[in-house]
Amino acid sequence: MNFDTPITIALSKGRIFQQTLPLLAHAGIEALDDPESSRKLILETNHPAVKLLIVRATDVPTYVQWGAADVGVAGKDVLIEHGSEGLYEPLDLRIARCRLMVAGVPGADLAGNQLRIATKYVTAARRHFAAKGQQVEVIKLYGSMELAPLVGLSDLIVDLVESGNTLKANGLVPLEHIMEISSRLVVNKASWKMKHASVTGLLDRLREAVESRAEQEQRKSG
Ligand code: ATP
Ligand code: MG
Repeated sequence: MNFDTPITIALSKGRIFQQTLPLLAHAGIEALDDPESSRKLILETNHPAVKLLIVRATDVPTYVQWGAADVGVAGKDVLIEHGSEGLYEPLDLRIARCRLMVAGVPGADLAGNQLRIATKYVTAARRHFAAKGQQVEVIKLYGSMELAPLVGLSDLIVDLVESGNTLKANGLVPLEHIMEISSRLVVNKASWKMKHASVTGLLDRLREAVESRAEQEQRKSG
């Protein structure tokens, strides 16, 4: 692909970087450094005009909203908490997949009013219980949510669950499914207009990569 305009892509390291790389490769973009071993926060690619910014997962929408990055990859969980101001969300990349769930000790009461819910996902948690018509008190945490019900900070937690092993290791169980989570491509609204050819070119190639991967998965499971 031919990038005539500079394009900056915001990504977090770890699972999102690892799983976005093959999709970028389909668009002909290869990172020249590995963020796991390099301390660089701006990674050059094989295209001089294309750069990758390595930022905290929760900061990706902020960089893109303010135009410091033209596009980014962020979990749906992060996007719900951040809000969509200044952002387009044109593509589900179907990577970093997990589920947002209510969890607690086995047999915990899910139905009561004034339940205390500890979570990093305050907006999603409030919406979920409001939709059920339940009044709850949401307590914001930044990590290790599994601890909260064990020490009486909360009755329940709302957390991302992949295998359930972290819950299990702490004597908790998933109790209620809130939503499926995956990572999305986000695009700055001004970049969408001003860099239209490059941004939509990249978007088209990523969409192809996502679709061909979905077909492969279907063939394997069917
Ligand atoms: P940090 O680990 O730096 O505190 P973080 O937990 O938000 O930040 P990651 O663990 O890299 O960052 O998660 C990035 C995204 O990957 C999350 O926003 C979510 O969408 C997804 N994710 C988180 N946990 C899991 C999981 N266990 N399985 C699959 N995807 C996950
Ligand atoms: Mg994490």
